[in-house]
Amino acid sequence: AKEKGKNNYQFFTQDLNQKVVRKYQVESALRKAIAKDEFKFHYQPQVDLQTEKLVGLEALLRWNPSFGPVSPVEFIPIAEETGLILPIGEWVLEEACRQIQEWKECGKLGVRVSVNVSARQFRDSQFNRKVEALLKKYRIDASQLEIEITESVMMNIEESSKVIRQLRELGLKIAIDDFGAGYSSLTVIKNIEIDTLKIDKSLIDDMLNNSRNLSILKAIISVGKGLDTLVVVEGIEKEEQVELLKGFGVIGQGYFYSRPMPPAKLESDWIEAGR
Ligand code: C2E
Ligand code: CA
Ligand code: CA
Ligand code: CA
Repeated sequence: AKEKGKNNYQFFTQDLNQKVVRKYQVESALRKAIAKDEFKFHYQPQVDLQTEKLVGLEALLRWNPSFGPVSPVEFIPIAEETGLILPIGEWVLEEACRQIQEWKECGKLGVRVSVNVSARQFRDSQFNRKVEALLKKYRIDASQLEIEITESVMMNIEESSKVIRQLRELGLKIAIDDFGAGYSSLTVIKNIEIDTLKIDKSLIDDMLNNSRNLSILKAIISVGKGLDTLVVVEGIEKEEQVELLKGFGVIGQGYFYSRPMPPAKLESDWIEAGR
């Protein structure tokens, strides 16, 4: 038994070592990623369930360093921990504005584009001014840009609601992301005015075989409707889910409609196809 314990310990430390090495590798590559132009966006359509028309896009960061693609699920937490999320977040906002302008100038697209913003970026006292400068630089309509935040932004509710109010005064849209996944979702919408509620995939996942989940989902949708916000249901993968939610006036985002894709593919499959 003692032998076995020792082996387990070795496996454990080996595993831990690998994780530390990987994290170090990711972190050092992340420091050079902007200069090396390794980031791009994939865009995922948001579709009106009723009309099946494209009504918005979420910009999702993709990173392809020399040692192979790394998922944002892995590198975003590291970026947040190290503060690298600040320069990365600036790249994200600027690239979204640039793309909105490009699509607008060639008459291709006028829909809302949403970007993810971390709590850390929100704490930057210059955040609003940076956003305002970008809107000017790219001469875009503020209402085409939406900022997705999670309830973690609300840890400091007073400061954050001030930033959010200012952003909305500029004309930007604000979405609460992963709604219903945490504990304090209701506190968030009680305290600030928002434009869009994005209901977390976990609530959609087993609504087909779990009537409790379906009830909760419907209740959240009606809360959103009551507050006059757009409701986006995330992670729709099956036709049956669409059937259940049709008639509720919601927007869907998920693999059922489309995976996130590079801008050129979005243009050919969605925009030029007139969807
Ligand atoms: P999120 O903001 O909740 O984005 C939705 C994630 O769900 C995306 O993963 C998307 O590809 C995935 N997804 C969409 N539809 C489906 C579906 O039907 N089924 C399944 N299984 N997944 C679906 P992705 O692109 O890997 O991004 C993961 C997370 O990384 C995002 O979650 C977001 O929290 C973060 N992230 C991505 N881009 C950025 C960024 O530019 N800035 C920041 N701060 N975070 C980002
Ligand atoms: Ca999001
Ligand atoms: Ca989400
Ligand atoms: Ca998330």
